[in-house]
Amino acid sequence: MIGLVRFEKSVADSLLSYAIDSYPKEAILLLRGKTGKDGMLINDVLIPPLATHGRGFSSFSSTMLPMDLSIMGVSHSHPSGSNQPSMHDINHFYGRIMVIVAYPFQSYSDIGVFNSHGDRLPHEIVPDSIREDPQ
Ligand SMILES: [Zn+2]
Repeated sequence: MIGLVRFEKSVADSLLSYAIDSYPKEAILLLRGKTGKDGMLINDVLIPPLATHGRGFSSFSSTMLPMDLSIMGVSHSHPSGSNQPSMHDINHFYGRIMVIVAYPFQSYSDIGVFNSHGDRLPHEIVPDSIREDPQ
């Protein structure tokens, strides 16, 4: 059980703006965060190594990823506007969750969260947490 997936507002904004910047190509981002008793928090995004814009989700190879347990999954955009994972997406699932950002990338309702079976998971946007900056 993954529970509720929470996105910090700056992360949700990054998913939308990166999808807009990449359009009409597909944008791929790694999602970093942590799990807790009642769900998951996504608080950072990372551009995957060697991700090639426009080649589609298939160009992204999980074997190139660093071993990083804070990676909760992958977000990619659907310039087509489909807000459902494709069979290809399910077959290339990586991590615990899959996020699909559907065209027109204008609001948080364009963000969908799915588990490895392609079932939609509940999610919400939360304020950014205060980061302790080591000085
Ligand atoms: Zn897809």
